Amino acid sequence: MNQEIFSSFRRSDIARKIVAEMQETECDEPVKLMHVCGTHENAIARFGLRDLMPQWLEVIAGPGCPVCICPASDIQMAVDLALDHGACVTTFGDMFRVPANISLAEAKTRGGDVRVVFSVMDAVDLARREPDLKVVFFAVGFETTAVTTAAALLTDPPDNFSVLVSHRLVPPALEALAATGQVGVGGLLLPGHVTTVMGTTEYDVFPDKYGVPVTVAGFEPVDVLLGVKSLADMVIAGDAKLENRYPRAVKREGNTVAVEAMWKVFDRCDAHWRAIGVIPGSGLELAAEYAHLDARKQYSLSPDLALEELKPGCLCGLVMLGKSNPPECALFGKACNPENPYGPCMVSMEGTCRNWFKYRRGQ
Ligand code: SF4
Repeated sequence: MNQEIFSSFRRSDIARKIVAEMQETECDEPVKLMHVCGTHENAIARFGLRDLMPQWLEVIAGPGCPVCICPASDIQMAVDLALDHGACVTTFGDMFRVPANISLAEAKTRGGDVRVVFSVMDAVDLARREPDLKVVFFAVGFETTAVTTAAALLTDPPDNFSVLVSHRLVPPALEALAATGQVGVGGLLLPGHVTTVMGTTEYDVFPDKYGVPVTVAGFEPVDVLLGVKSLADMVIAGDAKLENRYPRAVKREGNTVAVEAMWKVFDRCDAHWRAIGVIPGSGLELAAEYAHLDARKQYSLSPDLALEELKPGCLCGLVMLGKSNPPECALFGKACNPENPYGPCMVSMEGTCRNWFKYRRGQ
């Protein structure tokens, strides 16, 4: 993309103009909007966008950090693979330190073979290079990473490669929250990267069935402000539509090649979200044709759901549902910090607590 166009989405004069228009808008009732994307939280916190919002407007963080919502029982299965089954567990760097019973980082200090990779293809390549190694890829993340896992499995990985699937889908989780009234917000800011892959049709249900306006937004400051303003305008006008404020990347139909690959490799299933619970149709499992690559089956793994209880004092469940801000947790910045994360939201740069610690501590 032309660098000048890209830079324009960081221009402070444009951002200030959007902010001024919102500040000049009269609104008697408080308006609460929710974003559902760790990258949005990072942009909002990093660029101080919350401090620019008018008094009547609040933007809260929902369940948008993929490693935060990864079940502790799935992390434990990955730990068990490394410590008890002699597998080489590969995963993304964000996942490495997420606390469960123990983290994968701790499993490594106890002698487990745990390796950070930049992509699933790095794990497949490792398995090809070292045929005596039993390589398992711990596949976490939303649709954006699920399509990369699918693409790798379509390359016919070697027999010593398998995958522990823990991917999650965004729309079913949002619909579950909307259906139970737990969203409790006037509008939803949709993640630009997930919709770049999947398109926007799955989100029609929010305005059409629940009367909740939704807007797709990108990740530069101007992108986020345009998305927030679009939602605020709709809420004030009593309008509920789907708007796309990230048209340079998001098309209505998404990336059809990627979507086709994903549904060739995966089937939809019910899935547990850490600190939230089971959400129908919100997970992925390998389709029958790819079941031989399933680490759960190969190693006879089953989740220990007793691990899903949050540790005492951790408010991650409330933080992930936008019901508490991180400083409301008594452990925030004290017993829980990025060096020693006590809860999952303090690890990744997509975690709400981690972002608030880095950019809003003391506020
Ligand atoms: Fe969980 Fe730590 Fe955040 Fe508290 S500060 S909610 S323990 S991640």
